Amino acid sequence: GSQHMKENYSSETVVLVTGMSGAGKTTLCRALQQRTGIEFSISCTTRDKRDYEVDGVDYHFITDEEFRSRMSNDEFAETEDVHGCMYGTLKETIENAITTGEIILFEVDVKGAMSIKSLYPKQTVSIFVLPPSMEDLRERLINRGTDSEERITKRLERLKIEIGYKEKFDFNVINDDVQRTTDEIIDIIHTQNKGVLHVS
Ligand code: 5GP
Repeated sequence: GSQHMKENYSSETVVLVTGMSGAGKTTLCRALQQRTGIEFSISCTTRDKRDYEVDGVDYHFITDEEFRSRMSNDEFAETEDVHGCMYGTLKETIENAITTGEIILFEVDVKGAMSIKSLYPKQTVSIFVLPPSMEDLRERLINRGTDSEERITKRLERLKIEIGYKEKFDFNVINDDVQRTTDEIIDIIHTQNKGVLHVS
């Protein structure tokens, strides 16, 4: 009821899930969504759509030109060049979540998470997802098969930078098992957020 709405307003409605490339955060976020119905933020990107992705669901796939135009209109809370493509979170998405008190999940890279956290410090909880081992992570990156060798090399280089950020996050979780790790994240959200999260 209205009482919950009031509490929600001051609670941490923005959940930032970040992690090293290939640490399995996408799978985790999907599992979270299936079990809780938590809303996902939809970012804008200039990267090419992968076959299994849907425009307007996974991302808003936009042209470089449109991205630039939205940037000059100051529509983004943060933008980032990741592996040569642009990604951005719309301010509107974050502000809607904060206003309605609805919990919203952001799957962004480390710098994006830091930017959103510094813009909206009181309303965010940040979670850094780590792989069980670096070896396991390398295998996952290569076996995913969606990226070229050049892209994989770039991602491996990026790992070194990403790991340096982990201490800056409110929580570090090791993704050793999707079910267990999802439970852990749900616990974190419950502890941090006074709002209602329905878990099935
Ligand atoms: P992918 O191209 O594999 O979907 O994502 C590449 C990276 O971009 C991932 O680390 C992903 O979390 C990040 N990313 C996706 N959307 C955004 C966004 O809106 N802002 C930022 N900073 N990073 C994003």
